[in-house]
Amino acid sequence: MALFGLFKKKFPPPPARASVNTVTRFRLVQTKCPTCGALIEMKIYDTVDAAEDGPAFLRLLEARLNSSACSCGRLISAVCPLLVHVPESQRVFFLAPGKMSESDQNAAADQLMHRLLARYHPPPPYLTNLDVVEVDDHEYEAFAEYIRKNQRRPLI
Ligand SMILES: [Zn+2]
Repeated sequence: MALFGLFKKKFPPPPARASVNTVTRFRLVQTKCPTCGALIEMKIYDTVDAAEDGPAFLRLLEARLNSSACSCGRLISAVCPLLVHVPESQRVFFLAPGKMSESDQNAAADQLMHRLLARYHPPPPYLTNLDVVEVDDHEYEAFAEYIRKNQRRPLI
C-alpha cells in the first residue's frame, strides 16, 4: 500500500482522456456449465472495434466470440449486448439480446455508443447509424452471419 502510494506520487495517473483511446473492451466472468456444472471462466466482450482488435473481430465473424467450450464438450455462448464498430466500411452493429426489454436494449446501446463516440472529436456522422440486430439465446450464430454478410457494405 505504502509502495503503491509512492509509485503514484512518482508517476501521476494518466489524464482521464486516455481511458477512451481504446474502444474494444471485455471482462472475465465465471459461469456454470449447464451440462456438467463445472465452473468456466469466459471472456465477454461488450465492444469490438475491427480496426483495433482484428483477432477479436475474426472470432466474432466465426461466431466464436463470447463463447467457451467446457471440458465436457458443451459449447456455451453468451448472448449479451455487443457493439461492433467496422471503421473500414463505416458500419456500427449492435447485438440486442431478445430476452431484454426494448428499454433495456436501448439503455445498453446508449451506454456503449457513448464510449465509442467519446473517442472521436468530432465523431464521424455514420457512427450514429446504429444497425440493431435482435438475437435470441439460441440464435447466437445469426449475429455473426449478419455481420459476415453486411460488414463490407456501408449502411447508407
Ligand atoms: Zn460442462
